[in-house]
Amino acid sequence: MDRREAIKKLIDQSTALAGSAMLVGCSSHSHLTFDQWGPIQTPKEHGHKEHGHTCQKLDPQLHNQIEKIKNHASETLKSEGQASYSKLVHNQDEKTQHKMENFDQDHPGDIILGPERKATFLSCYRKLQQLYRYIGYGNFNLVSFEEFIAYSKTAPRLEALSPVELKFLEEIFYFSAEKYGFYGKKLQTNITDKIPSKEVIKIPFSGHYLYRDVSYPIYQKIKKDVGRSIILTSGVRGVVKQLHLFFAKTIKSDFNLSQASRSLAPPGYSYHSVGDFDIGKKGLGTFNFTNKFSQTDEYKKLIDLGYIDIRYPTDNPFGVRFEPWHIEGKFRRV
Ligand SMILES: [Zn+2]
Repeated sequence: MDRREAIKKLIDQSTALAGSAMLVGCSSHSHLTFDQWGPIQTPKEHGHKEHGHTCQKLDPQLHNQIEKIKNHASETLKSEGQASYSKLVHNQDEKTQHKMENFDQDHPGDIILGPERKATFLSCYRKLQQLYRYIGYGNFNLVSFEEFIAYSKTAPRLEALSPVELKFLEEIFYFSAEKYGFYGKKLQTNITDKIPSKEVIKIPFSGHYLYRDVSYPIYQKIKKDVGRSIILTSGVRGVVKQLHLFFAKTIKSDFNLSQASRSLAPPGYSYHSVGDFDIGKKGLGTFNFTNKFSQTDEYKKLIDLGYIDIRYPTDNPFGVRFEPWHIEGKFRRV
């Protein structure tokens, strides 16, 4: 069995367990927040797991699956260059700066998903994963939430989303990211917001799209001015794609949603939905998403051009790590 098959089997195996957890979920229409459902833990509580607080409550089989799915989440993130990190941050207030510098650790006040909701979280992730495999990498960038629901109901290889899962996905989407410690603006305010497909253009050989007006001309100009070694590593991303990445990042962060948000915008908050894009140097692979990119001649040329803005510089106000590869779309829509 190759790695992909093994991952598929693993995720499929979680069906029964996740399914049973879904059945005990709330079926009323009241909108529960994380607070009401009580999943929020402080890192202190979370840290009690070695004293039998958190993880022993969890079904050992589920716990085991989580550990294995983490590897899979890493692969998902790697494909989007989200696997590795840079560590240069300055000029923030001390507390935020400390968090930004140590973005991949737990900090006091972090929001962590409670054990009682992990099964639902994982079943949602599995269904996002099914859609991703079904429609393919390129289409997944643009697919809307409503299309996700429709595919999950009708496509032969997909499991339908349950009411509990839909409610959970909504909660994640509508949760205020400020509570995580992410200070960016909400750019897509409805979970059903769509990427206007007529306004984007597919970039050959990249699997990614750019807005024709706010991004494509800049990308073309960068390629012309810096050179052909510049590549597009991520372009337009819709709600579903961002949900998938955020879930993968959260799994990798031991269900610490705040930690995930320090290196990936929560769904609805990504500037990739309105014109930002990521570039890299051909051949640099996943190092394109580390400080290594900022040491390349390409990056130096890029900065010297004078017309490029990096969305997340070292002193960015968003609470996000330094991202030298993430370019602001100009004349953007917000
Ligand atoms: Zn980016």
